Amino acid sequence: MGDVSVLTCFCPECWKEIGPQNAECPHCGCNLSQHDYLSYEEKLLAALRHPIRENRMLAIQLLGDLRSQAALPVFRSMLETEQDFFVVREIARSLAKIGSAESEDIIRMLEDHKSRLVRKIAKEIVVEEHPNMPRPRPSASPRSD
Ligand SMILES: [Zn+2]
Repeated sequence: MGDVSVLTCFCPECWKEIGPQNAECPHCGCNLSQHDYLSYEEKLLAALRHPIRENRMLAIQLLGDLRSQAALPVFRSMLETEQDFFVVREIARSLAKIGSAESEDIIRMLEDHKSRLVRKIAKEIVVEEHPNMPRPRPSASPRSD
């Protein structure tokens, strides 16, 4: 699991951005210590079922940044029922970020998805991951010597 301290924290009730040390949410006043027993990763996993789509998208994205192995079975089952292309695409991107054998397995599953758009996204991700493809390099700063 990655270093959560570098990640932005979100209130698990109102989903506004908060500091990592807040005892209560400055926006909605919910007692954040009640949520202490949940790790940040578990909060994000719970948020995958959040009723608001944007919050689900954010949780998918942050779990990808965390390279969460625990998210993989949840992503897999979400993909079986998820109809929203943008959610599927976000999951596919996070799967690529996680980059384990299991996540690659799920991406391959998406290559046979019933939606043509999803198949296209899955193929693009596989191509991006291909080691022989040229990768964008950070632009080198000009040297003065
Ligand atoms: Zn709040």
